[in-house]
Formats: sequence, structure tokens, C-alpha cells
Amino acid sequence: MGRFLDESDFMMVEEGFTTRDLLENLLLEVSQMGDRDAFFLADLGDVVKKHLRFLKVLPRVKPFYAVKCNGSKGVVQTLAELGTGFSCTSKAEIALVQSTGVPPDKIICTGPCKPVSQIKYAAGCGVQLMTFDNEVELGKVARSHPRARMILQLASDNSRSSTCLSMKFGATLKSCRHLMETAKDMSVEIVGVSFHVRSGSIDPQTFTQSIADARLVFEMGTELGYKMHFLDIGGGFPGTEVSKARFEETAAVINSALDFYFPEGCGVEVIAELGRYYVTSAFTLAVSIATKKEVSLDQPGSDDEDSGSRKSFMYYVNDGVYGSFSHIIFDNVCPIPILHKKPSPDHPMYSSSLWGPTGDDLDRITDGLELPELQSGDWMMFENMGAYSISASSTFRISQQPQINYAMSRVAWKAVQLLQGKLLQPEEEERESICTPLSCGWEMTDTLCVAPVFAPASIT
Ligand SMILES: *Cc1c(COP(=O)(O)O)cnc(C)c1O
Repeated sequence: MGRFLDESDFMMVEEGFTTRDLLENLLLEVSQMGDRDAFFLADLGDVVKKHLRFLKVLPRVKPFYAVKCNGSKGVVQTLAELGTGFSCTSKAEIALVQSTGVPPDKIICTGPCKPVSQIKYAAGCGVQLMTFDNEVELGKVARSHPRARMILQLASDNSRSSTCLSMKFGATLKSCRHLMETAKDMSVEIVGVSFHVRSGSIDPQTFTQSIADARLVFEMGTELGYKMHFLDIGGGFPGTEVSKARFEETAAVINSALDFYFPEGCGVEVIAELGRYYVTSAFTLAVSIATKKEVSLDQPGSDDEDSGSRKSFMYYVNDGVYGSFSHIIFDNVCPIPILHKKPSPDHPMYSSSLWGPTGDDLDRITDGLELPELQSGDWMMFENMGAYSISASSTFRISQQPQINYAMSRVAWKAVQLLQGKLLQPEEEERESICTPLSCGWEMTDTLCVAPVFAPASIT
């Protein structure tokens, strides 16, 4: 039994089975019941795996979870159980995290322009850490939350990032001194610096530059009499399995920049705000076809002999861009379905497109697919659907959101308990027996076999 998550919160996947088997079973069940609603399968064990990988690769950085990325209860519970902190951008997110039982000293309130009601709410809950990047924000905080401990958010050079929104957020290096002097006049406390390299930035050196900038701002703050001891390196780390190498490469660059600018023992607590990294690969969405339309591809005037096969299909499925696929617009991704019924290789293929249920022109999930002819009622799956598909506020509008089925392997569940010290540090000779079940393909067995490296991320 965990404090935040226990075995009744998810389906236990026993050894010899995979979450994929579980998904097949669920699909069989819904097909038999004639059920047609889209649903998620969330592999919480995958979240655990990401956590262990993070601790191993960035040992000096305490992970915080950016709730805006996926506000599902199971993810929040799992990460609370693992001892991460949480970063929240709204009242609903703070409420969700607090209702799970997370204490306020593990919550940061982020977002560049917070409504006063949110600042007051944070103050009322005892959440002290907040980010800011402008004077207006400081004024609001001085009036509504005098005990806040502020983190100055720096703009980071994201000119190479694929979604070039970066310049909207963060103070420039030039404006920092003025902002900190203003804070001093208002008696607002500043404790550190944050930055956020937006995902899609292919250059890990952006982190080196941002960490170097943060060092300068630490020095300015110290000169002004602030006790600077908190560095938040943001998120943006990729969350698919294929990007693991890129993550590790970025981590190596971060580690050396930290060692250079914030060497171990300098008294600075380093955190990251991870969103997509934790959840992307954990969620698979299953949708079914509600309607199909046949479209003739023949151009007027062209007389193609084999026009017989020149047809294409539009499939309308039961979730779309206004629902779980909203992230495809700003992340510029092209989701690829996995068909539930495996087609035989000699089936003719047709150009096909997938559409959400609204009938709106913008509600296009993907097109240009080559698929065999499908029927309404057929199911398909989309992997890597965990990031920016489920928000905390829509958790309260359950009817509009696909149901989430949570699962975790027995191995991962043991790892959770081991990490928390629930399985007490085994004696030398017992160690092997405890590590055995954890070694089935888990690259981080070595992490698990040593004393828990992880001190829960509370802020001092
Ligand atoms: C959204 C956000 C994150 C998380 O971003 P991911 O790309 O999902 O990791 C981290 N930090 C800040 C400031 C954010 O706004």
C-alpha cells in the first residue's frame, strides 16, 4: 500500500504479460459489448521507468512534474508516490495536486501572468514558490502574497526551437537587475532563477547558455542581498522512446554546465519541470471508426485506365483535434494509427484520411495514409499520446474525455516500493533475490540495487 497510490488504483500486469496484451483484452471486451467510446490505456510503469532513468542520468536535478502537460489522477498519484514535486499553472492544478495529498512545499506556482485569484489561492494553500518575469507580476504578489518566494524566469535563446513561442516568456538578461531592484523596493523575496527551453530545440547548447545566464543573475541577486539558492532548468525533454539518445545527450551537456557554473556543494538546489518527458510514451489512445466516406480520386478530364482502384476513404473516428488530439496542432506531429485487425498482406491499400467527430474542416487528425479498407466499428490505436491530451480541468468534465485505464507491471510496482525504502535496504546476500525480478530488461537495475539515491524533492 502506498501513501498516494495503491494497488486498487490500477490493473496489475503480472509477469509474462505486457500492457499491450492488456490493451488487446480491453479491445476484445469493448467490441463484444458494442461499446464505441474512445479510451486511453495508461502504463504507469512507463512513468516509473522514466523517473528512474531521469535520476540516473541527471543525478543532481530534482524532478518536478508540470501538471499542465497531463492532469490525470493516476499520473499525479504515481509521481507523488515517487516523491517528485509539482509545478502548477492554475487553481485547478494546485487543487488536483493538493487533493492527492501533496504538501505545499513540493508545489511551485508557474506561468508568466497569474490571475490575482490564483496568487491568493496559492497563498491560502501555503504554496510559496512562484515564478515571475515582469514588474506587474511583482506588484500583484507584493499585495496578495507577501510570503511568496519568487523565482525569476529568464528568457532562453530558443531561436532554433520548432515552435518559436519562447520570446513571449521570460525576462531578458538586461532587465534582470531592474526587476530585482524593483522587487527589493516592494520587499518581495527572490530565491532563484528559472528558464525553460522549449521542446523541439535541437541544440543542447541552449541549456549551457541558459545555465551560464542564470549564474550571472545569481551574482546580481547576491549583490542585492538576496539569498539565491534555487535553480529551475525547466522542461522540454522529449518523451518518446526513440528520443532516448537525444535525452541522454542533452543530459550530459546539462551535467557539465552545472558542474562548471553551479558546482556540487555550492548550496544551490537544482530542479527541472518535466512534462512530456514523463507521460508521452505512457499513454495509448484507442479510437473506433464511427463513419466512413468513399471519395473518388479521379480528376475531372483525366481518363485513367485503372480508375477502379483510384478511390480513397475518409474515416470519422470518435475523438479528434478538439479532444485528445489537440496537441497535434501546436506540436506539429503526424499521428500514425496502428490497426487493431491486422490486414492480410494482399489487401489492396487506399489513400485514407482520419477525421474527428465534429465534421469541422480543422478536425483532421491525419491524412495521406495508405490503409486497407476499414469498416465502421473497427478500432485503431495511437501511441505516445500522453502529452497535452488531458488537462486537469477536463478531469472534472469526465463525460467529454476518454476514460483512462491505468495499468502497471508488477516489476514497476516493486520498483516504486523499493525507491521509497518500503522494501528496506536488503542485506548483502538478500540483495540478489530482490534485484532478480527487477532485472528483466530494465536498464536501471543498477540504480535500484544501490541505496535509494533519491531524497524526496522538498524545498528548503
Ligand atoms: C510547460 C512547461 C514545462 C513543461 O514542458 P514540457 O515540454 O512538457 O516538458 C516546463 N516549464 C515551463 C515553464 C513550462 O511552461
